[in-house]
Amino acid sequence: MKAIFLSKKRIFNYEVIIVGAGIAGISAAKIFDKNNISNIVIEANNRLGGRAKKAQKSFGSWFDLGCSYLHEGDINPLTSIAKRLKISISNEKGDLFSIEKTKYFSKNNKFSLKKVGLLKNSYNDFLKNLNFHKNKVKDSSLSSCLNKVDPCYPIIFDYLTGLNAVEANFVSKIDFASVNDGKDLIIESGLAKMIDRWAKGVNIIVDSPVMKINWKKDIIEVHTNKQKYFSKSIILTVSNGVLANQDIKFIPNLPDYKMQAVQNLPMGILNKIGVLFKEGTFKEKDIGWYVALLDKDTDNKLEIISFEIRKIEKEHMIFFFGGKKGLDIENFPEKYYRSIVKFIKYQFGKRIKNNIIEIIHSSWGKDPYTKGSYSYALPGHSSERALLKKPLEKKVYFAGEATIKNYYGTCHGAYISGADAAKEIISKLNN
Ligand SMILES: Cc1cc2nc3c(=O)[nH]c(=O)nc-3n(C[C@H](O)[C@H](O)[C@H](O)COP(=O)(O)OP(=O)(O)OC[C@H]3O[C@@H](n4cnc5c(N)ncnc54)[C@H](O)[C@@H]3O)c2cc1C
Repeated sequence: MKAIFLSKKRIFNYEVIIVGAGIAGISAAKIFDKNNISNIVIEANNRLGGRAKKAQKSFGSWFDLGCSYLHEGDINPLTSIAKRLKISISNEKGDLFSIEKTKYFSKNNKFSLKKVGLLKNSYNDFLKNLNFHKNKVKDSSLSSCLNKVDPCYPIIFDYLTGLNAVEANFVSKIDFASVNDGKDLIIESGLAKMIDRWAKGVNIIVDSPVMKINWKKDIIEVHTNKQKYFSKSIILTVSNGVLANQDIKFIPNLPDYKMQAVQNLPMGILNKIGVLFKEGTFKEKDIGWYVALLDKDTDNKLEIISFEIRKIEKEHMIFFFGGKKGLDIENFPEKYYRSIVKFIKYQFGKRIKNNIIEIIHSSWGKDPYTKGSYSYALPGHSSERALLKKPLEKKVYFAGEATIKNYYGTCHGAYISGADAAKEIISKLNN
C-alpha cells in the first residue's frame, strides 16, 4: 500500500496509522490492506511480532520466547491462518495441559493415580466456584474460589499463577471467569516464525518508537524518534505496560478514565527458561507437559515447577515461571539456571543433565517495549477493559490483548481486538 507523498521533507500521509507491529497491529493492517485503505504500522523495535518473539536460530528458531500455544484452537483465527500458510499444527486433541495427560512428579516418585483423581476433584470444585461467579456483579480475588486447606491447593494456585502471570490473590475472578476453555494447539515450527510469514506484505516501519501523539486537531500528528507522520485515525496497540509508563506523550493527555483503566489492568510477568539438549536425549514418550512438586528441603525456592519437553527440530525443556518467580528470573537468572540443572540431574539423571547444551530465558518485565507479559484485571476492575478499548473522538482507537474482555492475554485476543478496531474505522469511513 503506497503512502501519499506530501513534500520533499519525507512527510507521509495515511488514512490510518497503527502503533505497534504485534499481532493486534498486523491484524488491523491486513484488514485495511484488503479494503484498500492507506495505512502504516509504526514499530519501536527492530523486528515485528511484539510478544511473538523467537529465540536465536542456534537455540532452535521454532523456540518461542513469548506466545507459543494457540488457545481456544477451534475458534482461534490463527489456526486458520496456519492452515492457509500450510504450517503444521500438532496436538490435534488439544489437551496437552489436561490433568490426565500431565506427568506429575512428587518428590522422587510419580504422582499416584489416586492423587491425580483428588487433583481433578479439587480442580472441578474450583471451576464450580468460578462458574458461580461468572455473571455476578460483586467481584473479589480469584484465590477466593480456591479452598486453602485442600492438599491440592498449592498445585492449582501455581497453575493459576502461570496462566495469569501473577498470583491468584491479585486477579479479578469475574475477569478470569469470562475466558473460555478450549483446545490448546501447538505450531510445530514456532508461532513467532508463523507471525513473520503472515505479516509479509504489510507496510511496517521498524526501529521507530512513537514518542508523541498530537490528536487535538482533525489530522493527527505522530512523532517518532526520526520523523513526523499524519493520519485521520490512529490505532494504538502498545501494551498497558507502555501506556502506564507514559512512554508516549499525548496532546491532549489521555482522559483520566483511560489512565485509570490502564492502572487497573496491570501487566503480569510470565517468563520462560529454555534448556537445549543434545540430539537423542529424549524419547517420544518423554514429550509432554510436566508438573513437579519438589521437596522443600531439597530446594526451598522452586517448590512447584511446570515445564514442557518438546522434540521438534531440536530437543528442549521449557520451564514456565509466573508472578514473583517470573520477575525474580530477570534479576537472578543464574540462580534459577543452577536450580534447574540440579532438578534435571535429580529427576532425570546425570546422563540427561550432561546433555545440556545451552540455557536461555525471557525477560518480559525488562523489555522496554512491553514492560510485562500480559494484562490481568485487579478485583473489581474487569469492566474497565471496555473503557480501555473505547475510542477517543472517533480518531484514536485502542487495540491489543488488554482491550478485549473474553480473550485478554492471548494471541487470538490481540488478533480480534486489532480486527475490531479496523472494522470500526472502516464503518466510520463508509458513513
Ligand atoms: C511469555 C509469554 C507467553 C505467552 N504465551 C501465550 C500463548 O501460549 N498463547 C497465547 O495466545 N498468548 C500468549 N501470550 C500472550 C500473547 O503473546 C499476547 O497477548 C499477544 O502477543 C499481544 O499482542 P499485541 O499485539 O496486543 O501486543 P504486542 O505484541 O506487545 O504488540 C505491541 C507492539 O507495540 C510496540 N511498541 C511498544 N511501544 C511502542 C512505541 N512507543 N512506538 C511504536 N511501537 C511500540 C511493541 O514493540 C510491540 O511490537 C504470552 C505472552 C508472553 C509474554
